[in-house]
Amino acid sequence: MERVLVLPGDGIGPEVTQQAVRVLEAAGKRAGIGFECSEALIGGASIDAHGIPLTDDVVEAARTSRAVLLGAVGGPKWDAMPVDTRPEKGLLRIRKELGLYANLRPAAVFPALAQASTLRPEVVDGIDLLVVRELTGGIYFGEPRGRAIVDGRREARNTMVYDEVEIERISRVAFDSARRRRRHVTHVHKANVLDVSQLWIEVVDEVAKGYDDVELQHQLVDSCAMLLLSDPARFDVIVTGNLFGDILSDEAAMLTGSLGMLPSASLGDGGIGLYEPVHGSAPDIAGQDLANPLAAILSVAMLFEHTLDRPDAAAEVRDAVTAVLAAGHRTGDIILEGEKRETIGCVAMGDCVLEKLGA
Ligand code: NAD
Repeated sequence: MERVLVLPGDGIGPEVTQQAVRVLEAAGKRAGIGFECSEALIGGASIDAHGIPLTDDVVEAARTSRAVLLGAVGGPKWDAMPVDTRPEKGLLRIRKELGLYANLRPAAVFPALAQASTLRPEVVDGIDLLVVRELTGGIYFGEPRGRAIVDGRREARNTMVYDEVEIERISRVAFDSARRRRRHVTHVHKANVLDVSQLWIEVVDEVAKGYDDVELQHQLVDSCAMLLLSDPARFDVIVTGNLFGDILSDEAAMLTGSLGMLPSASLGDGGIGLYEPVHGSAPDIAGQDLANPLAAILSVAMLFEHTLDRPDAAAEVRDAVTAVLAAGHRTGDIILEGEKRETIGCVAMGDCVLEKLGA
């Protein structure tokens, strides 16, 4: 039995995770994997019940689980709270407590949705890339940081710092991921001006020596940003630091044109993975059975692949989603402008995926 902690969170979080759990259990059954799923509170739901966005008990429950499946946190009800006690803090804390330093964001275009991209269909055709972003180091956390008055002027500073261990471990995640894909890694840097990037190149090259079967390319971040728009299908795995990864993962995500379709995984050395859709809690549609559960369902595919090392089960889930879309089923968010189609709700979309899975 694999223990999975489900943290539905707020807004549409509970709706989409409910469908994701159905798919987890059905695909697990087909793959011969049993799950013991338990539910707990995070974000605004936890604030309402306990006064804080994440309790120690939930952290402990996460530590003793194989994986965490999360919905989304936040909403207008908690927007006026001080930054330190808001729902998002629950998310930041669980990532920190579990030591999740690698954030994986795939961006793939489903043929049936190619028209949803703002780019021409022939440019987005074949996009299937994975951004592996370092999540716990770099300029967002480096010291010294802060503001000061120097010679009567306001000054502010942040520090970009990485050590070789941080670079090595994220590089391994990228190379291991590439081995399950098309065996190509693009390391994104700014080594023409940054010493930090020069160290990244050295360490990534050292790690690459253990992966003869994976091709490595170093790419300047500015040219990578351009190539993502002009020739995105060339990329397989992109690995980079926190700052560049933050920006490029959003750029890559938008190539697909549909927020309700994007899954993510956060991994660390503790063996526990956290899987969640990229989208937020969508308070504007919460509680109305309007949410698209496919990003949460595709997060389940990532759980099979990365935590359970079952790419076969992951592929079954992805293939079921592809088939559902090809059959023309759509939630409201993935209907194209001018398209005349019936829309279906969150539960019905879950039903469709289960049916394609043969469950
Ligand atoms: P959002 O992603 O929640 O919503 C943006 C727009 O996309 C909305 O119109 C929403 O209806 C739509 N949308 C999002 N996911 C959808 C889905 N699965 N199906 C159909 N439509 C979907 O972003 P926002 O509106 O900026 O933020 C709302 C709340 O979510 C805020 O409190 C924010 O802090 C929080 N948030 C949480 C996370 C997270 O938990 N990881 C991420 C982003 C935002």
